[in-house]
Amino acid sequence: MSWDLLFTGDERDIAVRDGLIAAVGPGLPRDAHRIVDVTGRLVTPGLIDAHTHVGPGYWGIDPDPVAWYSGVTTWVDAGSAGAYTVDGLRRVARAAGVRIHALLNISAVGLAGRTGESRDLANCDVPLAIDTIQADRELFHGVKVRIDSETVGDNGVEPLRRGLAAAEACGVPLMAHIGTAPPALDEVLDLMRPGDLVTHCASGIAAPLGPAVRAAAERGVLLDLGHGSGGFAFDVLEAQLDAGLAPHTVSTDLHARSLHGPVFDLPTTMAKLLAVGVPLDEVVAAVTTRPARALGLPGGSLTVGDPADIAVFEVRPEPLGLVDAHRQVRTSPVRLINEATFVAGRLLPPRLPAPPAPWIPLTDTQRAALDRRGRDIRALLTTPLVDVAGLAEQFPRTEPRSS
Ligand SMILES: [Zn+2]
Repeated sequence: MSWDLLFTGDERDIAVRDGLIAAVGPGLPRDAHRIVDVTGRLVTPGLIDAHTHVGPGYWGIDPDPVAWYSGVTTWVDAGSAGAYTVDGLRRVARAAGVRIHALLNISAVGLAGRTGESRDLANCDVPLAIDTIQADRELFHGVKVRIDSETVGDNGVEPLRRGLAAAEACGVPLMAHIGTAPPALDEVLDLMRPGDLVTHCASGIAAPLGPAVRAAAERGVLLDLGHGSGGFAFDVLEAQLDAGLAPHTVSTDLHARSLHGPVFDLPTTMAKLLAVGVPLDEVVAAVTTRPARALGLPGGSLTVGDPADIAVFEVRPEPLGLVDAHRQVRTSPVRLINEATFVAGRLLPPRLPAPPAPWIPLTDTQRAALDRRGRDIRALLTTPLVDVAGLAEQFPRTEPRSS
């Protein structure tokens, strides 16, 4: 009997066969095609990011060039696609090396454009949303509604009511994005059901600190971080933690405008939780078991029979300054450095990042950083990897024949 892949660690080994976790425990037989020594490393289930944007349109990014160095094996697209734009998301999901699931935007136009998708209520078509979700329960695990003044215009909470009707009919959770009022935050929170998620829960703009957020959390509404380009403030999170309100799930809201900062990736977002004192095991649960359970997703644990989605991190005791969406800075005591990411037992290979779309605004500093990265990559790839001492003579010349 031999494994395809065996991780050998401090306390337990993890064996993989046929893309699944085949055995977990101490001292497993060293009989594997490939053995990965993870002594001293943090080994987690492949991370699940419950709020990302990978569907085509204004916000979407390609997940593979980020996944291989961040440990994120399951990407939940949160409302990039609505019923009219599902085919584009399906093509992305089929082509990706990572697992993609989605929350359907209640607005059928989804996030093809920058915002405003629920200003025309004709787009918030409940029967169409229900049919779209029911037709692909593999892809769709919930409904997404963005509720802020820019998105809904004069429509108040009506898009949310419609999203809830669709979610109720399909038996799936709803994720609500909160931001600038109106509609009032309390009105939004009061409508949400146990098991629904409030993303941007530590938003500096919505600042959910009143009794309505406590009441929502107490009846089982789940707080999701959803960092994004405008959805996370350290001081709001600290006030929530002081009040006993910790985020249930930690997600990035990684998209074309947050990828180059302030979010960068999920391990960086996790370090922001460490920076305000959330323990590492809580943070890991918030990106593995909890999002899996909240959205009914496979994975999120290292149990025999589960898909062999595995991430290996070095937890380096080195202070790391981190910035929220409002340029507030906190310091994490450690850096989480992903060393390897496996999907179904397959190591994700390096993938070069694509340049940002032309409509994405970047500061001069961000542009300079992208140029520097381009030069560094070019320098790496144009420098011979090994010198003469590292090469063999593969076809030795024979002695010339004497005539
Ligand atoms: Zn988002």
